[in-house]
Amino acid sequence: MTVMDEPGAGRTPYAVRLRPPDISAWRESETGFEYFQSFDSGQPGPHVMVSAVVHGNEICGAIAVERLLRDGLRPKAGWLTLGFANVAAYLKLDLERPDAFRFVNEDLNRVWSEETLDSGRDSVELRRARRLRPLIDSVDLLLDLHSMQHPCVPLMLAGPTDKGLSLAQEVGYPATVVCDDGHKAGRRLRDYARFSDPESRKNALLVECGQHYEAAAAEVAMETTLRFLTVTGTIDARLLADYGYRQKPAPQKVIRVTDAVTIESEDFRFTEAYKGLEVIPRAGTVIAEDNGRPVRTPYDNCVLIMPTRRVRPGNTAVRLGRYLA
Ligand SMILES: [Zn+2]
Repeated sequence: MTVMDEPGAGRTPYAVRLRPPDISAWRESETGFEYFQSFDSGQPGPHVMVSAVVHGNEICGAIAVERLLRDGLRPKAGWLTLGFANVAAYLKLDLERPDAFRFVNEDLNRVWSEETLDSGRDSVELRRARRLRPLIDSVDLLLDLHSMQHPCVPLMLAGPTDKGLSLAQEVGYPATVVCDDGHKAGRRLRDYARFSDPESRKNALLVECGQHYEAAAAEVAMETTLRFLTVTGTIDARLLADYGYRQKPAPQKVIRVTDAVTIESEDFRFTEAYKGLEVIPRAGTVIAEDNGRPVRTPYDNCVLIMPTRRVRPGNTAVRLGRYLA
């Protein structure tokens, strides 16, 4: 029996406040990449992309991108591409058990290494990634819209490079920035190829807009997208006010991830119901047990980032970091 077949699998303990928008109008594309629409300003500038539903159940990004497409948003410089990535999972989404529709065969946000993309392995997600690869290869600046299992303040994941942190700070929103290396289980879209090459001017951000199904996540997705498109020179700053985002964002805090705890056995459990951003004061505190082995915090004031409920060997259980002064 697979996890998906277990009774109750894919249900969520949280109220589902968001409704997935109909994206069928955006399937056909002149560029040939289904569900990705590209617009040329006719002016010089970077190719800027905003992607939604790399995870099929992360509705907030689909709401923001679909709204901007419907509103006819166009770039004033460069190219703008807006689109929906794991459509196969998204179109199956059942709001009775939405967590079951993160992906069809495998996590689309763990396949973005040359090695995996060039391998002979096959899955629904790998086919989609390979199909989109030439499009992604042409992108200079990417914002990838996501959401989280547990209620948590929104997080901008800036990746491991200084250029990622700089772009997150230019965008200036949301207030918590996490500098991180990704996951052992496979490479994320935001880390693909030159996005994570310190020598390249290409750059990418991933924003976790809040809990998957909370209404606020859609607002965070929209505000982050508009601020990102302003900073990249794609749209006029006045559009932010037109969409109702008039307030100056709160000052940002930055967390540097130092460690990732990877699950080794089926018998992994946290010692408490951590939800993320807890600060554990003392080094050596046991936060989990994996097959009886204690998992301890490595230093004082250790921050827990995005603890998972998906207990599967090889998955990241939690990442550990510290606030930068
Ligand atoms: Zn996600």
